[in-house]
Amino acid sequence: MNEKTKTPKKPKTPRTPMPEQPPFVRARNFLEVTLGYAAEQAALEASRCLQCKTPLCRKGCPVEIDIPGFIARLRAGDRDGAYAVLRQTNSLPAVCGRVCPQEVQCEGSCILGKKGEPVAIGRLERYVADSFAAENGCMQLTGQATCSLPREIRVACIGSGPSSLTVAGYLSALGVKVTVFEALHELGGVLIYGIPEFRLPKDVVRREVDAMRALGVEFKTNWVGGRTILVRELLDQGFDAVFIGVGAGLPRFMDIPGESLIGVYSANEYLTRVNLGRAYAFPEYDTPVTRGRHVAVFGGGNVAMDAARTALRLGAESVHIVYRRTKGEMPARREELEHALEEGVKLEILANPLRYNGDENRRLVSVTLERQKLGEPDASGRRSPAPTGETFDLPIDTAIIAIGTRPNPILLESTPELKLSKRGYIEVDPETGETSIPGVYAGGDIVTGAATVISAMGAGRRAARSIAGKFIGEDAVR
Ligand SMILES: Cc1cc2nc3c(=O)[nH]c(=O)nc-3n(C[C@H](O)[C@H](O)[C@H](O)COP(=O)(O)OP(=O)(O)OC[C@H]3O[C@@H](n4cnc5c(N)ncnc54)[C@H](O)[C@@H]3O)c2cc1C
Ligand code: SF4
Repeated sequence: MNEKTKTPKKPKTPRTPMPEQPPFVRARNFLEVTLGYAAEQAALEASRCLQCKTPLCRKGCPVEIDIPGFIARLRAGDRDGAYAVLRQTNSLPAVCGRVCPQEVQCEGSCILGKKGEPVAIGRLERYVADSFAAENGCMQLTGQATCSLPREIRVACIGSGPSSLTVAGYLSALGVKVTVFEALHELGGVLIYGIPEFRLPKDVVRREVDAMRALGVEFKTNWVGGRTILVRELLDQGFDAVFIGVGAGLPRFMDIPGESLIGVYSANEYLTRVNLGRAYAFPEYDTPVTRGRHVAVFGGGNVAMDAARTALRLGAESVHIVYRRTKGEMPARREELEHALEEGVKLEILANPLRYNGDENRRLVSVTLERQKLGEPDASGRRSPAPTGETFDLPIDTAIIAIGTRPNPILLESTPELKLSKRGYIEVDPETGETSIPGVYAGGDIVTGAATVISAMGAGRRAARSIAGKFIGEDAVR
């Protein structure tokens, strides 16, 4: 019998719960919701792993972390060894331990989940990364920092989200000189400007960036690829390869009346003002953002959950998530949805906005919604919403639209040689990440459309492996 068919032994201990701030406390502060395992809790949870010979968890991880390997070292009391195993394939473990959808990846595949609760792999990953960093400061990156290269190799990354940071992490550990060009004044992409402080403290991201700086990665902020510098110019300046990891951060709107009223935001703008502009730290930072009393967020994904929970923390009296299907079809991570509901966010399901209504000063006062019913499944397998004709008004002073994003055109329009897909994303060789321009690679949301941190990192790893293979040697990046 192989691992797939073998019935797992029931673990002796239940999954170790994660300590977290109580909902009524955290709903009004921006401190991290989940508090992380202590050493004893991590040891207890690590002891649940069966150390499978064919670990299904590893197959479920997009960057193929040796999960039983790091857990085995943790169990043996070798926390540094556990960290080294994580670092072999994941350059941002403290981030992934917090924001990856483990329930559909490693933990979704863990054999213990078949009969009970899977090993809390993400929580263990976070514990190892945080406790290692607490003792080792910025000296976090393992790898062959002293690798002697045949000549100086220079790689440019455009954008500083998880895809580019992964390329920079792998290649700089091999001795490659990496320069990252970022349009904003802060580094980290969505990890900094999108995901809120209470889910991913910004110091965790800065710590990872500092570790790369310590390895020699050069970061240039306020550089817009396609405007301040062109892709072609980077190649002409002697960069051996260019990686494009600019994400897909241009918000989509619904094109309904009233979207230009005061108080209507895209989730992207709202979260950027709060996170990057530090509107949450008022009065220390006086960033203009509406502190809505009655807020509606439109959409059912992680971005909608983040926006709704942020509005609560800024002092809203009521926050509704308006979604045209039902709770079961919401694409958000279950944990995020449950956290939002526990904190007091309300759901207005089977409802779709028809128009935003303003007063004489063009300030938003309400939204007109149309009740929906579920019809036949669409291409995504989810049942499609259909209008019923029944309408009603929801009084609100702030609307946050979180219905998806598309690629920002600046870099794409300035690089017409890049082959794009019908949906407007960059086309790449799926094995290498190379684009239609030789020596130019791309990965992350600008290739896949809005996806996940770990899939962006997986793309970064494939590109780094391919660049290293070309200039250093076949197996330079595992
Ligand atoms: C609010 C929110 C919450 C999310 N929550 C989760 C989560 O919990 N778990 C999860 O796995 N995923 C989550 N995601 C998705 C995840 O963050 C993204 O899939 C991931 O960050 C994509 O990485 P990337 O490297 O492709 O680009 P990004 O993270 O988008 O970074 C791209 C960077 O490129 C910069 N840039 C853009 N154009 C240029 C240019 N022309 N020149 C120079 N720089 C440029 C941008 O300023 C940005 O810094 C969330 C996304 C959002 C918006
Ligand atoms: S985490 Fe789960 S699947 Fe992976 S080795 Fe341990 S018990 Fe097996």
